[in-house]
Amino acid sequence: MSELHKFIFDGLPVRGMLVRLTDAWQEILKRRQAAGGYPVEVMQLLGEMTAAGALMQGNIKFNGALILQIFGDGPVKLAVAEVQPNLNLRATATVTGDVDHGSSLSQLVNLNNEGRCAITLDPKDKLPGQQAYQGVVPLFGDSHEKIENISEVLEHYMLQSEQLDTKLILAADGQVAAGLLIQRLPVKGQGNLEGQIDSDANEDQIGKNEDYKRISLLASTLKRDELLTLDADTILRRLFWEEPITRFEVLQPSFACSCSRERVANMLRGLGADEVESVIAERGSVGVTCEFCGAQHEFDPVDAAQLFTQPDRQQPPPFAMQ
Ligand SMILES: [Zn+2]
Repeated sequence: MSELHKFIFDGLPVRGMLVRLTDAWQEILKRRQAAGGYPVEVMQLLGEMTAAGALMQGNIKFNGALILQIFGDGPVKLAVAEVQPNLNLRATATVTGDVDHGSSLSQLVNLNNEGRCAITLDPKDKLPGQQAYQGVVPLFGDSHEKIENISEVLEHYMLQSEQLDTKLILAADGQVAAGLLIQRLPVKGQGNLEGQIDSDANEDQIGKNEDYKRISLLASTLKRDELLTLDADTILRRLFWEEPITRFEVLQPSFACSCSRERVANMLRGLGADEVESVIAERGSVGVTCEFCGAQHEFDPVDAAQLFTQPDRQQPPPFAMQ
């Protein structure tokens, strides 16, 4: 089973999270097999993004999807990991060019330093006019040097967006996608509102908290193989055996795709009757394959005609896997 462990360091302003995606990650890869699977370098990147997405979703109180995307300028045009508040997750990547063996992150998605990473928080129940929040960070550092670890890109993002020092260690192979997050807790404000975060005090603490520094240094000794092969108890004991830790209930991320026949129907309605009819005239039916789960949503001429004659129907047709 896939697991997400949350913990705090007793009496210190530091929290942590460890995620190990096993069955959930294997299911994501399995759904891609019909389309030929991923080159190993892309698989590792996507696994690290999926583990990171689970950690970032687990780290916030937000009722909506957290979507981690890389828009690449190399052979990988897009990589997406999407995690719901209940830790249902899905991921996919679009590979349009040849991936050389041993390709680095920049060779995959940042050849010309034009790759971007976007983090979107999409509220579940949007109020009218409400937009998703999106932060975009480049895949290069302060002097435009290419960053070669997605963990470093996300550490920068969290420092910028939350003013919180964060250490992320990520790894993935064909069986496991895993990650460790260590983060300094926000400084509580002394103002009128009890518990309000004092952002000035918080910013002042960046890079200065000795407890965080010591613990993140311990975390950074974790090796890729250890993260992939050891269970959570062993990892936490090995890394932090001198640090008293309080652990919380273990959460269980799992694979789930939110695609549906009704969503595809809405997309086809958006294309317009002329466009849909011309595809049907050419191919006999119109079909859309979900990039995340491989489900094929097929509309024959009768289904397609109904799309445009009953646009306001209240009852969606039952979703059927084909
Ligand atoms: Zn799907």
